[in-house]
Amino acid sequence: MDQSKQQEDDYGYNLFPERNAPKYKKDSIGATLFTFNHKCQVMLHLALETSPYAKLLLGAMKNSGCQVFKDRHFSCEDCDGAVSGGFDATSSQIVLCQNNIHQQAHMNRVVTHELIHAFDHCRAHVDWFNNFKHLACSEIRAANLSGDCSFSNELSRFNFGLKQHHQECVRGRALRSILAVRKVSREEAEKVVDEVFVSCFNDHAPFERIPHSKKDAKFANRHYESRDRYYANL
Ligand SMILES: [Zn+2]
Repeated sequence: MDQSKQQEDDYGYNLFPERNAPKYKKDSIGATLFTFNHKCQVMLHLALETSPYAKLLLGAMKNSGCQVFKDRHFSCEDCDGAVSGGFDATSSQIVLCQNNIHQQAHMNRVVTHELIHAFDHCRAHVDWFNNFKHLACSEIRAANLSGDCSFSNELSRFNFGLKQHHQECVRGRALRSILAVRKVSREEAEKVVDEVFVSCFNDHAPFERIPHSKKDAKFANRHYESRDRYYANL
């Protein structure tokens, strides 16, 4: 196995097999794939147009000089296992797993989660591959701010009633995300997550505080947009 292949495996790119496959492969299930792909595109469009989380993040990225284009920066693909999406830092593309996302609410959460990685990539010089703390920090922020751990999601997983369950949920999801994309031991991942947890959990940018619901996100987005207007009038 050559070095580059080895590296690809270590970075977990095998989760997104279509990343390395020739494009526009036609096969007998082409029709099914087209349907999945089309549905994914429609749900993506809706997420970008209607989710207040996504709208705020898109606005914040535009303000930071990283305007996001639907056709250029998103890709609906089939993925391995149960992954829902990923951020490919080398191409600055968000991968949406069309075979694993079937509901709009799920699509909205995945788009938001991955946009937080894209936002981090835009505003900071994130070294996704060599600096483990950077990856851990962005996963903590994505789990914390995307609604992945919001009350109704937790409720549906029967995890309610736990004290500080939001923090526990964020920690657990960040750990799982890291273990899905890097070949490291659980102990090593836990150590890094714990090291950066407090500062990254408290970094809510571009939200002012943790949005715990769509209503919170809507309010935050309205506030963010009116702040733009205020600056525009100066
Ligand atoms: Zn993530």
